[in-house]
Amino acid sequence: MEEDKKPLNFLEQIIEDDIANGLDRSKLRFRFPPEPNGYLHIGHAKSICLNFGLGLKYNAPVNLRFDDTNPTKEEQEYVDAIKEDIQWLGFKWANELYSSDYFQQLYDWALKLIKEGKAYIETQSSEEIAAQKGTPTQAGINSPGRDRSVAENLELFEKMKNGEFAEGSHVLRAKIDMASPNMHMRDPIMYRILKASHHRTGNDWKIYPMYDWAHGESDYIEQISHSICTLEFEVHRELYDWYLDQIYDTKKLRPKQREFARLNLNYTVMSKRKLLQLVNEKHVNGWDDPRMPTISGLRRRGYTPASIRNFSEIIGVAKRENLIDVSLLEFCIREDLNKTAPRIMGVIDPVKLVITNYPDEQEEWLDAENNQEDENAGFRKVPFSKELYIEREDFKEEANKKFFRLSIDKEVRLKNAYIIKATDVVKDEAGNIVEIHATYDTDSLSGSGTEASMRKVKGTLHWVSIKHAEKAEIRLYDRLFTDEAPDAQKDKDFKEFINPDSLKIVTGFMEPSVKSAEIGERFQFQRLGYFCVDKDSNSENLVFNRTVTLKDTWAKISAKEN
Ligand code: ATP
Ligand code: MG
Repeated sequence: MEEDKKPLNFLEQIIEDDIANGLDRSKLRFRFPPEPNGYLHIGHAKSICLNFGLGLKYNAPVNLRFDDTNPTKEEQEYVDAIKEDIQWLGFKWANELYSSDYFQQLYDWALKLIKEGKAYIETQSSEEIAAQKGTPTQAGINSPGRDRSVAENLELFEKMKNGEFAEGSHVLRAKIDMASPNMHMRDPIMYRILKASHHRTGNDWKIYPMYDWAHGESDYIEQISHSICTLEFEVHRELYDWYLDQIYDTKKLRPKQREFARLNLNYTVMSKRKLLQLVNEKHVNGWDDPRMPTISGLRRRGYTPASIRNFSEIIGVAKRENLIDVSLLEFCIREDLNKTAPRIMGVIDPVKLVITNYPDEQEEWLDAENNQEDENAGFRKVPFSKELYIEREDFKEEANKKFFRLSIDKEVRLKNAYIIKATDVVKDEAGNIVEIHATYDTDSLSGSGTEASMRKVKGTLHWVSIKHAEKAEIRLYDRLFTDEAPDAQKDKDFKEFINPDSLKIVTGFMEPSVKSAEIGERFQFQRLGYFCVDKDSNSENLVFNRTVTLKDTWAKISAKEN
């Protein structure tokens, strides 16, 4: 298999070393642990491809664990969307699990820690806790709560659990080391009081475990061998291990946390909190707006699962943070759609072209190849007639030497049809061209084998027969932000960099074969780019999203600027 020849990435190397040191292969187990507080984005896709990819490589189970420990932000809608996105990417989880399933077990373990004098109730305010925390170079101050008796701690914790205290009035802290050089070890909070209703446990619980306490113990309960997370958790690893030390049974597998660099992509933001702001403040039309870096947005935009998996593969796993150019993602979808998307012709900025020597009432249904990259794609029929639309930018009255499209007295080929030559134009009072007149060479039909048809002309244009054209709403997307790193600018909110022209809607005129196109179907509009049918589409109003242009237009712009 091709897979096996690739050099191991550093995480695979860690796993191989563990196996070499005696870890039973059959004990390998991974998880993807999203918090259901928003829709997944392309960064999550990287983590999904990584964890599920390891599952496939080692034939090991991968759990989907919802890290649902904060009821104020989590919702069933997000759970459902996350499941849909992972399945769409092509992965299958072994078990669907929830941290909330472990609330009782986590609580029981917390009692054990209290009884062993390793956890205590803190009644100081969060400001006081913060003030006593110290700095990385200066030890913190022990809280008076540290000296509370076990009995009193148990009683207070019980009352916290029963909802007898107000939110923020009490927390449970682990008693570790207020002088630790690692700030996370300075008596971290294990539980807080929250009186919100949880999407699964309802009002059963008034106290909720913090991330660090819940995560490692959940890994342990599920017997996850390698708990892979992003680099910002590297400093949490010591605490992850300390918590495991408290409950670990040596006969069981001990999970191991390892970290990799998160995906950062330019011209977008990727924190769920910020994406939620874009949605709530209506800068975009929902989580699946095709401009969003969410998996659902990319799907609606026309991205394929294969293109996203391939993107994850190409960027690989790194130990250091870096910034990936969004044009790499665009490259991946172009590459995939070039092989698979049927070609059609559509004009999105039309100008009328009249073939003056073509008989008025005549029409011909010409053969057009569906995809020259795929020999099994076959042919379709495209209607040709006297009056056509071509793109406005494909004509210039007077052209310089570099303009290979249509101009007066110059020849071009109409794709799948004839060679034509422009003769004159009709203009409105303002001087705008409203009609171009041309003649066609009757012997030059594409593929007819005549001498005239073999004649080389420099340009080939796409076109649509006006009387056969299907109108469509075409949504042209551009980057959502004008700045490469919108959320990394000093003293400026990321929303100041929202691109006001990120969506442009035009009317396109399409060849009639699109009439039967279904939602989600993808096409190459020849010479324009890749497009897919949006979910807003119906038989009355056909709607297309531009997935990506054929070429990287931004590369051209930045090359000019440099
Ligand atoms: P965000 O900050 O965007 O809300 P998060 O890390 O809080 O993301 P979680 O739902 O907690 O989101 O993440 C689930 C998993 O996805 C975690 O293992 C996390 O490390 C991983 N993940 C999140 N963002 C990225 C990213 N940009 N690149 C790679 N992995 C990511
Ligand atoms: Mg998180």
